[in-house]
Amino acid sequence: MLLPQVGEAGQEKLLAASAAVIGCGALGTVVASSLVRAGVGRVKIVDRDYIELNNLQRQILFDEEDIARGLPKTIAAAEKLRKVNSQVRIQPIVADVNPDNVEEIIGDVDLVLDGTDNFETRFLINDACVKHGIPWVYGAVLATYGMTMTIIPHRTPCFRCFLAEMPVPGSTPTCDTVGVLGPAVNIVASLEVIEGLKLLMVREEELHGRLIYVDAWASTLERMELEKRDKPCPACDLGQFEFLEAQQGSYLTRLCGREAMQVNVRGEVKVSFPGLAERLNPVGRVTFNDYMLRFQVDSYELTVFPDGRTIIKGTTDEALARTLYAKYIGL
Ligand SMILES: [Zn+2]
Repeated sequence: MLLPQVGEAGQEKLLAASAAVIGCGALGTVVASSLVRAGVGRVKIVDRDYIELNNLQRQILFDEEDIARGLPKTIAAAEKLRKVNSQVRIQPIVADVNPDNVEEIIGDVDLVLDGTDNFETRFLINDACVKHGIPWVYGAVLATYGMTMTIIPHRTPCFRCFLAEMPVPGSTPTCDTVGVLGPAVNIVASLEVIEGLKLLMVREEELHGRLIYVDAWASTLERMELEKRDKPCPACDLGQFEFLEAQQGSYLTRLCGREAMQVNVRGEVKVSFPGLAERLNPVGRVTFNDYMLRFQVDSYELTVFPDGRTIIKGTTDEALARTLYAKYIGL
């Protein structure tokens, strides 16, 4: 409140505001932590994943005990952050953000912040945010560099104005192939949150209005002008939300940063873990808690969530992943 940029009035606006952090990995943990410490009144944290040892290098809200307890990222993050500020309403959601649920997830917040690690989810967030007129802040980090931009639907260029099409799979480097410098993440996440706070405090004239590119190793920060293309943007000019309207059945996703596949299930599913554990016990090692069931068989590890979504570790082969899913989970 001592800062003139915030003041008592700004702090009160933050308290009355809400934000969703999509993805609670490297960027998302820093973003969520900063929002809660800043006193943003309600913070939704959405992530599909559980915590692994290699995450601890950069995902600042997690520790070894969380891994031993088998906690999903959002649950562990919420536990920690409730100890930081018990007056903030923290809403953890264990889910894969997809065309079926994204509008519900973002529909009741003032702001969305990007903590994802893939283009598909960002295009989906962009479609949903443009459709509902909700501002969002894009952020990405890879190796030692990262970038961020702030999108206010119909007032600034949107993510599809900036990047018209999804990059062809395999055409861009990922954290699978190049790694990430831990502290580089914190810089980009902080830039995202600062923009977010300006938006929530209604100080839009102070947004940077650029694409910011940071190289943390070289200690450089560049600000690039964003211009709309000549061609109309499908999302913000034409209202064609192609990612939001994507029709798919149960489908597979390759998970960034590790040898794993995810099977997504559409529709209402509620898995009974005790029942599934009983069926799987004779064939492999099974453990479960309230949030997920883990099943180890041969060299594979299957992690099942209550909505049927399953992460299969130990393969990136689509056909094999489908087979393992059908054989053991078979929803
Ligand atoms: Zn656009």
